[in-house]
Amino acid sequence: MKITNLKNLKNEGTENLPSKERRCFLQLGLSITGVFLGGTILSLTSAHNATGALSGGKILTTKSPYSPHYTMVIREKHCIGCEKCMEACRSTNKVPDDGFRTTVLERSVPVAPDHRERVFMPILCNHCNNAPCVRVCPTRATYKDTVNGIVQMNTDKCIGCKTCMTACPYNARYFDEAIRAVDKCNFCYNSKLKESNGKTTACASACPANVRVFGDLTDPTSHAYKLIHTSGKVFWVLRPELDTLPNVFYVES
Ligand code: SF4
Ligand code: SF4
Ligand code: SF4
Repeated sequence: MKITNLKNLKNEGTENLPSKERRCFLQLGLSITGVFLGGTILSLTSAHNATGALSGGKILTTKSPYSPHYTMVIREKHCIGCEKCMEACRSTNKVPDDGFRTTVLERSVPVAPDHRERVFMPILCNHCNNAPCVRVCPTRATYKDTVNGIVQMNTDKCIGCKTCMTACPYNARYFDEAIRAVDKCNFCYNSKLKESNGKTTACASACPANVRVFGDLTDPTSHAYKLIHTSGKVFWVLRPELDTLPNVFYVES
């Protein structure tokens, strides 16, 4: 299916999926050990809208409101659960031991009557275009970067009320006791992203299985752009029913 066809879908339910993908979603999507993410079902229309939504959630145009428009595609089936991404994120961004900017969820699924397999699902901040955390922050310490779409944290402005943590439906934020402020993934804005001239993040470059594909939705030469726009594969986002319009997309392989 082409990205241009996505807007024709009537809704985002699994009934619109070809049978193979529907089976996959039903197997993988409904309960995940660790953080329960709810009905993880197809959100092709969200993928389409990612290039056309403003932070207020209004769909104004099919042109991206950000340039660059950073995104990450998670090639879920390739994840081997080695957690190298988590280690790289922690060391690169000085994440404390009791915090996290990304994690890898795991669960065991039955694949035969007497055989189960472990499946993994990396998660991080989705840099939502319609971000509940941004809406509730009383000091605007967290905000949508109008240049690149990253949901940023200004820790100097954070008063530690944790309202954003409560509002985030993806459990993507933590409280850093040392600085008495909330922290989260910022696509390595001050570290690897800057060093690589906008090309990659610490977790993406550390992954030995190329699970995390980082890129720019406005750059047709970007691997992420090509995957989303030309691969013909089925993509989904987490909790599409909340209309948060994530910028992290999932694909089977
Ligand atoms: S995933 Fe959570 S922290 Fe990240 S932008 Fe969305 S609501 Fe905010
Ligand atoms: S993009 Fe950077 S900050 Fe975000 S999870 Fe990956 S390594 Fe951590
Ligand atoms: S580094 Fe790659 S393969 Fe390893 S846990 Fe992270 S996403 Fe999965």
